[in-house]
Amino acid sequence: MFRRLMTFEEAKQVINEQLNLGVLGEEETPLLEAYNRVLGENVVSALDIPPFNRSTVDGYAVKAEDTFGAEENQPAKLATLGMVSVGEQPKIRVGKGETAEIVTGAPIPEGADAVVMVEDTDKTGFELRVFRAVTRDENVMKRGADIKKGETVLKAGQVLGASEIGVLAALGLTKVQVFKVPVVAVLSTGAEVTEPGKELPDGKIYDINAYSLSTAVRESGGKPVYLGVVPDDKAELRKALKHALASADMVLTSGGVSVGPKDFTPQIVNSLGEPGVFISGIAVKPGKPTTVALIGKKPVFSLPGHPTSALLQFHLLARPILQLMSGRSATEVKTVKALAVARMFSAKGRRTFVMVKLKRDKSNRRVVESVETGASGAISTLAKADGFVEIPENHQFIDAGEEVVVTLLKGAL
Ligand code: AMP
Ligand code: MG
Repeated sequence: MFRRLMTFEEAKQVINEQLNLGVLGEEETPLLEAYNRVLGENVVSALDIPPFNRSTVDGYAVKAEDTFGAEENQPAKLATLGMVSVGEQPKIRVGKGETAEIVTGAPIPEGADAVVMVEDTDKTGFELRVFRAVTRDENVMKRGADIKKGETVLKAGQVLGASEIGVLAALGLTKVQVFKVPVVAVLSTGAEVTEPGKELPDGKIYDINAYSLSTAVRESGGKPVYLGVVPDDKAELRKALKHALASADMVLTSGGVSVGPKDFTPQIVNSLGEPGVFISGIAVKPGKPTTVALIGKKPVFSLPGHPTSALLQFHLLARPILQLMSGRSATEVKTVKALAVARMFSAKGRRTFVMVKLKRDKSNRRVVESVETGASGAISTLAKADGFVEIPENHQFIDAGEEVVVTLLKGAL
């Protein structure tokens, strides 16, 4: 395995080429559990919605022409026949000069073609006086006006939320065909890393990455499986990674990818199958040692240990792949323009991502301030940042007052 830093653009390109694996297949899910799932096929309506002409108001079903010319001081007079309720097939037939009381949502009885609102009428005994004319189909929702039989109502690839699930319910469906959710094994490495919930001995830190990365996986449509912390030991790493590859569709590791004497992850990953590691370091900051492999059909992203670097590189490189695997269409990155309040420096020859916070200045202009990242170690950095500003490889800095594009990390999904 040869270690050469790829440019960020090269890395993105090979990832697109090597890891364009498509969706994992489909399965059926109950409609009530389909939230945030991705529709696996186009849905064609087998019925007209509404299935019958129905009244959109409480009032009286009439023949519109019987009301023509009706006014406040010159009402049309109609003979009332009875009542049409919701949920039943009307038995009444409205003839010339006749009308039937009707409620919102009830089927228009035969012979009627419009509904007069109750507010525009007055009933005395069996006589209804109508003070306002209606046109044909007024206050009537026609059969199929909402959805027509044979119409494609939802398309494969749509993410199911409240309204989409409502549409499927309107069709009478209780199950829906969706893409399988990619299972992503998440494991952390490092002798100092301790699982939250356990006691924290001297010299140790809690595992941040497994938690932040697992959540990012969920946000991207995957199902994270936390496989715990693996010490910096070749045999243990191999065992844990084998298990991860056997039980998941994608693997995320953090830590142990740098050039330290205990950074074994890349070589172990590479030994687990073909084609192996194809990115060993990227000319970016932060996240330079990021390592990407394909083992059989399973992408393995080995991210650096620094929490900010790990989450940023997940966002930049792994998330688009995970979204494709889950059947979601290309990532829509949200950006906003803002003015830099102070000079932002880049790392020489590397694509630099500066974590920033958005603010308003005194003149209410949108400005960005870089969030101190230190050695890209702090998780609080990410919690404070709204997004990042990208500085190209050939730029030394962005000057105060320059306009920059901020890629939003929060609400980016
Ligand atoms: P490494 O990439 O293994 O050299 O780790 C770089 C830095 O990130 C070190 O300070 C580690 O202690 C820290 N680190 C590694 N893994 C984690 C983790 N899972 N959670 C929090 N910090 C970590
Ligand atoms: Mg380590």
